[in-house]
Amino acid sequence: MIEQILIVDDDSAIRDSLNEFMEIVGYRCSTAASAEDALELLKKNTYHVVITDIILPGLDGFEFTEVIKKKYDTDVIIITGYSAKYSYEEAISKGATDFVFKPFRSEELLLRLKRVLKERELTQEQNRIMEKLKNLAITDGLTKLYNSRHFYNQLLLEVDRTNRYNRPLSLLLLDIDHFKAYNDTFGHLEGDVVLFRLGQIIKSCLRKMDSAYRYGGEEFTIILPETGGDEANTVAQRIRTTVENEKFISTQGKEGSITISIGAAEYHAKESPKTFIMRSDKALYKAKTQGRNQVFFISANPSPRL
Ligand code: GH3
Ligand code: MG
Ligand code: MG
Repeated sequence: MIEQILIVDDDSAIRDSLNEFMEIVGYRCSTAASAEDALELLKKNTYHVVITDIILPGLDGFEFTEVIKKKYDTDVIIITGYSAKYSYEEAISKGATDFVFKPFRSEELLLRLKRVLKERELTQEQNRIMEKLKNLAITDGLTKLYNSRHFYNQLLLEVDRTNRYNRPLSLLLLDIDHFKAYNDTFGHLEGDVVLFRLGQIIKSCLRKMDSAYRYGGEEFTIILPETGGDEANTVAQRIRTTVENEKFISTQGKEGSITISIGAAEYHAKESPKTFIMRSDKALYKAKTQGRNQVFFISANPSPRL
């Protein structure tokens, strides 16, 4: 990757000599005579580092740095000839990564630039690792769906949102029918393959805003935001029939199939997430006791029987 550098100085002699030097040492450079011109360039291109003078015709280097840090993932090195007036601390507090006093040798600026780029690389690597860890913490290892811890957190958020904006919300609880028998017939490992495949099927049946979780062993939950009872029923039926029609081929080439039961519930205004889950659980129990391979739906206003 060739790093992109943007040099901002109203003195064309400095601008041109820095530009030439940076190009010679292998960076790709752009130049601007003012912060305003530089911001136009930033809108169009990606720059890894901006090197800017403090004294500029419009916005000064500090104000310019603040704008950059708010909008872009770009490091800033500030250059100034007024060493007494501006402090290193002030530059850093505005978001600059480093500060260089004029007059400076190009080699000195290059060393600072290399250090800034190295730190940038390390920070990006750290961010990538953090992102991976965060994902691992909310992902179920077998199915690659979200895990149950994430389910509770997301349900709290969705319930809160639903109450605030008075929007519909539905929840599906899904359990494989007679999965013990499947394990007994094909073996536990083949059962695991089914769980993984089921995760994929569930995902393929959902819309962008929906989210699916492995709730426990062979149980799954699906949060359907902005979804009333009828639509939740439709989604649940779609998943149920897709699973019913799927052929699960074992590693020995044997063909197996499964069915699932789904409890669906529509959120009842102001009810606690716990009660909402309990109602979905009751719906799932009904789907099981009424014969399995079916969806049982409980509306927002459950009948007194339930
Ligand atoms: P039903 O839900 O229809 O009442 O019957 P079931 O046989 O599915 O129900 P039960 O809850 O009694 O058993 C669940 C089975 O799911 C038991 C266990 O062997 C299996 N199971 C749970 N977690 C896993 C897993 O991670 N991998 C595999 N292969 N099987 C699992
Ligand atoms: Mg179960
Ligand atoms: Mg089961």
